[in-house]
Amino acid sequence: MGEPVCRACRGQVGHLVLDLGEQPACDYFPRCDDPGPDPVYPLQMWLCSSCGLAQLVADPTVPEEPRGTEPAALVAQAADAVERAAAAGLLPDGGRVAEYGSPHGGSWLGLLTERGLRPVADGQPADVVVDCFGLMHCADQSAALAGRAARVAPGGTLLLQYHSLATIIGCGQWNALRHGHYAYYSTAALATMLAADGFSPRMAWRFDLYGGTVLLAAGRDADGGGGPGSAAGPVQALLGDEARVGVDDPAALEGLQRDAQAQAKGLHDWLVAERSAGRAVLGYGAASRAVALLRHAGVDGGLLPAVVDASPAKQGLRMPGTDIPVIPPGELAVRRPDTVLLFLADLLDEVRATYPGVEAAGGRWVNADALGS
Ligand SMILES: [Zn+2]
Repeated sequence: MGEPVCRACRGQVGHLVLDLGEQPACDYFPRCDDPGPDPVYPLQMWLCSSCGLAQLVADPTVPEEPRGTEPAALVAQAADAVERAAAAGLLPDGGRVAEYGSPHGGSWLGLLTERGLRPVADGQPADVVVDCFGLMHCADQSAALAGRAARVAPGGTLLLQYHSLATIIGCGQWNALRHGHYAYYSTAALATMLAADGFSPRMAWRFDLYGGTVLLAAGRDADGGGGPGSAAGPVQALLGDEARVGVDDPAALEGLQRDAQAQAKGLHDWLVAERSAGRAVLGYGAASRAVALLRHAGVDGGLLPAVVDASPAKQGLRMPGTDIPVIPPGELAVRRPDTVLLFLADLLDEVRATYPGVEAAGGRWVNADALGS
C-alpha cells in the first residue's frame, strides 16, 4: 500500500499512529453456525501532517452494522445539546432544518421540530444544518463537509457534533478506531476543514458523552457578524485544551498503541483469573468497539462464553472473528453470572437499573475499559 492520501486536504505526508493489525469488519456479525474464518482487514489510523485530521487508512468493508438500541445517555445528551444551541439563539422559530444522521441513530429532528423548526427535503437549503456523528462515516471528508456547508442558507448555522480526538488520546480510547469510521476530529483539524468551505467555528460546547464530545457551531465567513468575535472564547479555550493534549502530535497519538496493548493484556489476564477463581463471566454490549478488543486480547469462548446484547438484530449471531455467541438479556437471569463485563462504560447506570437481578443475585458489573489501565 502506498502513502495514504488525506481524506480532507489530499495531503500525502503524515504518520501512521495506530495499527491494530488484521481485524474483521466489526459490522459483520456472522451467524453462530457460520464456522468462519471471517474475512479480516488492516485497521490503522493515520495523522495528516498538513491539516491534522486523524483518519482511517483504508476500508474495504461496507460501513453498515445491525442498528443497536439507542443508549439513554445519547438521548439525554441530544436534549441537552439542543437546549444549549437554542439558548445561544441558533435555532430560530420557524427556521428550516436539515439533518445528516448517523447510521447508529440518535436523530435530533424530533427535538428540533418541537422547537418550531421545519425539516426540508433532501438537497434543500436550511437555516440550521445538523450533523450528529454523521460526518465521520464519510470516506471523502472534504466532499462530505462541502456538501453540508453548501446547504447552509445565508446567515445560517452548521452544527457539527463529534467524539473529540482529544478525548480519544486523553482517555486512551484506542478502540474508537474502527472500520467505517473514517475521521477522528480535533477541533483544530475541523476548523481547517471548515475554512476550505469559507466557514469558521463560532461557538463550542463540551459534553461528557463517550468521555468527551464536542458540539461545534460554525457560520459562513461571508455572513460577517458573529465571526470570531464575541462568542469565540469557548472555541479558543477548546483549541487550547486540545493542543495541550497533543491532538496534532504523532507521539501523543502513538500512546494509543501502548494503551491497546495494555488493555488487551489486562482483559486477558483478568478473564484467566476469573476462570481460575471459578467465577462465571458474561459480556454485555456486542458493540463494534468490543470486537477489536476481544480480537486484540485473543479472547475466545473458553474465556468469555457469551456476550449479552439487547438488539434483536444481533440474536443468533456471534462476535466477528471469534466463536463467542451473542445472547439476549433474558439469559442474565438464567445463567446468573458472577461478573458481567460491560463493553460500553456509558451504559453502566442504564444496565444496572434495567437488570437489577444481576446484583440482587450477588453478581457485579465490571467496566472492560478499566482493565489494564
Ligand atoms: Zn489532511
